[in-house]
Amino acid sequence: MAGPAQAGVELIRDGRRHDGRLPEDLRPVRMQVGILHNADGSALVEFGRTRVLAAVYGPREPHQRFYVLPDRAALRVRYHMAPFSTDERKSPAPSRREIELSKVVREALEPVVLAEEFPRTVIDVFLEVLQADGGTRTAAVTAASLALADAGIPMRALVGGVAVGKIQGVLVVDVDELEDMYGEADMPVAAAPDIGEITLLQLNGVLTGEEFRTALAMALRAINRVVEMEKEAIRKSYLEVGGGQE
Ligand code: ADP
Repeated sequence: MAGPAQAGVELIRDGRRHDGRLPEDLRPVRMQVGILHNADGSALVEFGRTRVLAAVYGPREPHQRFYVLPDRAALRVRYHMAPFSTDERKSPAPSRREIELSKVVREALEPVVLAEEFPRTVIDVFLEVLQADGGTRTAAVTAASLALADAGIPMRALVGGVAVGKIQGVLVVDVDELEDMYGEADMPVAAAPDIGEITLLQLNGVLTGEEFRTALAMALRAINRVVEMEKEAIRKSYLEVGGGQE
């Protein structure tokens, strides 16, 4: 595969990234809660051009009894990329990657959802990637956390996510697709800062031990900011409902 130099892409220049960001800058982040009428909870989250919609249903009785757990609600997550979400039209059929990411996102949420309060029910989380430009799994975790809160599902804390990358030897926060494609490492992290738990940690590529520790600290600092934005988005949705703007 051609490297960034061959492709004419200089990803870091004078300490700035290809889109002008400093290493610890997030892309412009937007969060909206409660945007779908037909779901119990919903949220739209954008990190730059990456745009993910989350819809939550439940807790409810499942159509298939098969899914029922005697002592808690079963959390089901479907991560899906819309056919129009990428440059090349993606097949609408679920890919292996989507099946894997559905599991990764579910496992990033399970530690915070108080599923034991709703035995014998299911909570469904549908994640639709509307536009993909890197970091869709961490945006999906963030959107799901907001949609679960919007559905009134009790949680121990909110979860947020961001990926840290290593680009031309520099650690950077919130990698986009270009940085993900040409970077040396990519480390998606999700965490619940209010209870001090990391719920997702993956690493593609190679980091030294010291780089890993720095990257994790950078991710957690960024996630603090993401979760503060989540709280603000939830507050705003309450005010809008209270103010009768819907
Ligand atoms: P993440 O989206 O969590 O970073 P990946 O590292 O697997 O997950 O993907 C990085 C980026 O590559 C995605 O955000 C998306 O922009 C692009 N991508 C992933 N899968 C596809 C696909 N099937 N077709 C086109 N682009 C894709």
